[in-house]
Parts: sequence; structure tokens; C-alpha cells
Amino acid sequence: MTQATTSGRTYEKNLDPDSPNRNLTPLTTALDTKERLLVGDCLLSDLAKRYGTPLYVLDEQTLRGTCRAYREALKRHYPGPSLPIYASKANSSLMMSSLVASEGLGLDAVSAGELLTALRGGMPNERIVLHGNNKSDEELLFAYNNNVTVVVDNQHDLDRLAVLIPKEAPPVQLMLRFTPGIECHTHEYIRTGHIDSKFGFDPNQIEAVLRGLVGQSWARLSGLHAHIGSQIFELEPHRDLAVVMAEVLKLTRDLGHPVNDLNVGGGLGIRYVESDDPPSIDRWVQVVAEAVITSCQKRDLDLPRLMCEPGRSLVATAGVTLYTVGSRKTLPGIRTYVAIDGGMSDNPRPITYQSLYTCRVAERPLAEPNEVVDLVGKHCESGDVLLKNLPLPITHSGDVIAVFATGAYNASMSSNYNRIPRPATVLVNNGASELVQRREQPDDLLRYDVLPERFREVTLNSEKGVKPSGRVRGGESAPRS
Ligand SMILES: *Cc1c(COP(=O)(O)O)cnc(C)c1O
Repeated sequence: MTQATTSGRTYEKNLDPDSPNRNLTPLTTALDTKERLLVGDCLLSDLAKRYGTPLYVLDEQTLRGTCRAYREALKRHYPGPSLPIYASKANSSLMMSSLVASEGLGLDAVSAGELLTALRGGMPNERIVLHGNNKSDEELLFAYNNNVTVVVDNQHDLDRLAVLIPKEAPPVQLMLRFTPGIECHTHEYIRTGHIDSKFGFDPNQIEAVLRGLVGQSWARLSGLHAHIGSQIFELEPHRDLAVVMAEVLKLTRDLGHPVNDLNVGGGLGIRYVESDDPPSIDRWVQVVAEAVITSCQKRDLDLPRLMCEPGRSLVATAGVTLYTVGSRKTLPGIRTYVAIDGGMSDNPRPITYQSLYTCRVAERPLAEPNEVVDLVGKHCESGDVLLKNLPLPITHSGDVIAVFATGAYNASMSSNYNRIPRPATVLVNNGASELVQRREQPDDLLRYDVLPERFREVTLNSEKGVKPSGRVRGGESAPRS
């Protein structure tokens, strides 16, 4: 991947253009002649003006570069068939489904909503899997009716499917998820691979479950799945996982199940701040591939199709969130608060996980910091702090702040807390910007409210009596620039 430098010079040397997850900013980040930030050759401050803020920006080159990095690394390091599948919970939209499909990836969905988005976005159904530790009957049938592989997580999934699949109908294609019992040093909330986890079958249950599935006409077990957690920088747990999975693969094949898919989950970390140092995609894939190859050879197993499920590492670095600075409050000797026009509703990660981010003033990214502030959101929560003790150049009302590495688990975890509409998302590439998710409008938030008839007589200001709330920019379908 090369960086966009047509309009100016490179903003900061990206550490690893072949592995976007190791960089702080999108691959195309650059400066124009006035030293303002460009991404995808679009001036960030112009995007803010045109679409309004808060605004999610996704860089197409970084997204496609990451998809290719996974595909190519698998081809390089794994002689058998392989398929990276995008964990769409990281950022789900029609555009994302379509983009990863066009790059030859598959997709994992964990709900009917994500599954619908994948199918409508054009993802081929044979490349989709449905996860979830408490799938509804509707979700199970939705997957089955669309020939989507179901990753069975527990006995409840099996019991329901046995009832739901019509007699004499073709079997449902299944993968079996188990908890591999691997510890890794990441935040407690996002560890899923240790034994005390709500996800997957306990290792002690596997053999009985596999035996129970033998000869069941409604089920065709085609794969195994495990996922050890998220934002992981260590390689060792992934190596250990491959060994555990090969052991289960042997047991599964010995029992006669035609299992050919080994899905090792996601979890590769990304660089949020300077001090983060995750492995490259190539290295991660190499370690996983070599461990699978070695442990299969040891057990005399034909190589399975190797699947992995990157979420964060596929989309985080491509994303930048733009905010506009508003009010400021200075408590001399204590603290200065600088407030932006979004916060925990568009990025709940800081308040949920104490996550850290890197940010710059979009029009003065090279300005030296000359004050330390708390960059806070606009929600009615004292904990709504985006970045604490942040060194920043003096900012003024109207300045645009760019927060990097917000492509994963921001839009997808966003809420309407305080009845704040969700931001728009634009995709940028080669100087063009396209709206891929419209900005919600205050009226949209009332769409599902129902005011019972008997309340109406006592309600003043019915629809007619209220002056317009004011549309926010970014709601319209902007033409391609
Ligand atoms: C969350 C999740 C992923 C993706 O994890 P990342 O850390 O975002 O790569 C993959 N597989 C499963 C089952 C998950 O729950």
C-alpha cells in the first residue's frame, strides 16, 4: 500500500503500510499544503463542514488493504484452503458487507440484524456464519432458510434446531463452538476463551455432544470454532489454541463427522496509542497457520480449511471520528474541560473499558500541545470523558478534532443516550467522499414511540405545535464529490 501524498506530504510515517492495525492513523493520512489533515485525499475539516459532526469517516484504501493483508497472509503461510471472515459486530453496514464480500472474505453475524445486513449487502450465504450464545428461533430459522452456517454455542441451540428443522428437509450446516481454556492478558470483559465464559461448549462436554450428533439427519457438522478474546498482542495464546483445536478436530473426525473447517476466531489487537505494539497481520497469520499445520501433521490429519474472524483489526484503523469543539470550563489549578459535540453515545469504549485514543486538531495536527485538558462529551454523565489528561494545543469553539482508530466498536456500539441522534458515516477514497450511513435526525428517534390515544387530550404541543427541531447535516444523500 502506498500513502496518498498527491495533495501534500505524508502526515506521519506509518510504521507498517502492509499491516494497518500497527498504525495510529489510516494509511492515506497526509497533510495538505497548509498542513491540515487529509484522509483518502479528503480534507477532514471539509468533511466536517459538509456532513456535520460528529462524523464517522472510513478510509476505503485502509479497509481494502487490511482485507488483502489477511487473504494474502493466509495464502502465503497456509498450503490448504483458507477463508478470513469479517466479524461484522465491529462495524456492520451494507457498505461493509459489500466491501468485504468484494475482497473475497466471508462474514460472521451474531444476530438477525447483522445477518440481514450481510445478506442484503451481497455477502454470499455460503461465506456467512451465525454466532450467538442465545439465538432465538427466528434467528436460527433465518440462518437455516438462507443456507447460512450456524455456529452452535450450547445445548439450547441444538435442542431448538432439532425441533425447528422440518423432517426430511436438508440438514442445517453447523460449526461447533467450544471454550478452549486459554488465558490471555487483555481486559477482563473481552476475554472469552477461558473456561469461565458464557460462550461455547465446555471442553468436558464436547465428546458427548459430538457423539450425540452422529447420525442426526437434521444436522451436518462441518466445522469447529473457538475465539479467545479481543485486542490481544501476544501470539502464544493463538498458538496454544491451534493445538487444542487440532486435538478436537481429531476426535471429531474419528467419530465420523465430515469436519473440514477450523475457525480460530479473531482477536488480533491494534495500535490505539503510541505505546501499543501489536503484531502484524502477516505475523499473526503465520503463527496461527504454522501451529495448525504442525499440530495436524502430528496427528496425521488432512489440513482443514483455515478460517479466522478478524473484527477490530480489520476495521478500526480505517476509522476516524470528527467532532466540533464547543464549550470550555476552566477550574484554575484543577482541570480544564473541553467539550465536543458527541461522546459516550457515539463512542462508549472509554466509559466501558477505559479505552485510550489518539487525537489531533484537524486543521493544525502539527501544533505543539500547550495545555492539558479533559476532552469530554455532551452527555449527562460525569464519566462521559473521551480522553483524560490530554495534552492539546489551545482549541477554540468550532475547531474540528479528529479521533483516530475509531472504526471498530464505535458506530456498532453507539446508542441514543440522551436522545442524541447517531452520526453519519462517510467513506473516503481518492478525494471523493460518499455517505454510507445517514445521520439520524431527532424525528427518527420518535419513530417507535407510541402515545396512547388517552394521553393525547392532555398533551399540549402535539406534532403541529412544535417548531422544527432543526435537521442536522449529513442526513441527506450527498452526491459523489
Ligand atoms: C468479537 C468476535 C470476533 C472478533 O474479535 P476481534 O477482536 O474484533 O477481532 C471474532 N469471533 C467471535 C466469535 C467474536 O465474538
